[in-house]
Amino acid sequence: MMSVRIALAGIGKIAGDQHVPSIAASPDWELAATVSRHGRIDGVEAFTDIERLLACRPDIEVVSLCMPPAPRFEYAAAALRAGRHVMLEKPPGATLAECVALEALAREKGVSLYATWHSREAAQVEKAGAWLRDKRLVSATIIWKEDVRRWHPGQDWIWRAGGLGVFDPGVNALSILTAILPEPVHLKAATLEVPENRETPIAASLDFAHPGGAEVTAVFDWRQQGDQTWTIDVETDAGRMRLADGGATLTIDGRKQADADGDGNALQGEYPRLYARMAKLVRSGGMDMDLSPMIHVADAFLLGRRVTVEPFDE
Ligand code: NAP
Repeated sequence: MMSVRIALAGIGKIAGDQHVPSIAASPDWELAATVSRHGRIDGVEAFTDIERLLACRPDIEVVSLCMPPAPRFEYAAAALRAGRHVMLEKPPGATLAECVALEALAREKGVSLYATWHSREAAQVEKAGAWLRDKRLVSATIIWKEDVRRWHPGQDWIWRAGGLGVFDPGVNALSILTAILPEPVHLKAATLEVPENRETPIAASLDFAHPGGAEVTAVFDWRQQGDQTWTIDVETDAGRMRLADGGATLTIDGRKQADADGDGNALQGEYPRLYARMAKLVRSGGMDMDLSPMIHVADAFLLGRRVTVEPFDE
């Protein structure tokens, strides 16, 4: 099978950590070019402008976008207009309307568009969903607490409107929740804690309505020092389950389940699975634009009570 030529745009932290090694390790793909104003990858043709890439390299069929959400729409729309398949980092855009517009454009052009949710590809998420499928939910509790200084050093965009603040990691938890719950929930209340000197929240708590009356809540906090927590605890009429380490570890009724990827490491295996799925979508002319995690984030910004908290400085 021939590999497909792909361009990566927005060469920063996640491109270097995950996208480049995942593409390099896959027979599906050949990294043919990059688009980035400053970043580049040794040995790969580098552009600083998406329009020039699209004009100069008609042989590149797929463009994968790894820049922050706010500037992503222009890049995605340009690539789709030029008839290329597009893969979007999470969250797929800065607004829901942008994402809807991209999907319409992709359909008009007959190309594939993939809103990736890397946490859904964590090792134990599928197994957790399968376990839950025939059970009655009593409660689901998300605790997503991490140290922003450790994970997002110097990322000014994340603190600006459109950067999502603590919802940048929080949407990962919501992407898992929306994948594993048999019945959809919707937000009924939220509190957003916004530092006095920033535009986006440093912490948030969410309370969801569940059709069967289960208690479904989430707490996101970026002020966590020491141990980091990315867990979803679920209680049902037929047992309890804990997804920990961002979906990499699963415990059912106190028994740790066999670890498919070997080391319980968050992110392990996630990006190779995203690229394998993109290859399938391109081959089959498919589309995957599930916006449900982002709908909850948008609802939190619509409904959330804002509380000003002490300034945050790195
Ligand atoms: P980043 O390193 O701060 O940014 C990636 C690159 O995007 C930058 O190096 C920059 O490259 C380009 N960029 C930044 N602002 C831009 C703008 N206004 N216009 C055009 N390009 C711009 O961010 P990141 O951590 O890789 O995150 C990028 C996306 O990946 C986010 O949506 C994030 O949620 C997602 N993600 C991140 C992680 C993580 O661990 N960091 C994990 C999973 C997903 P140039 O200056 O060279 O153009």
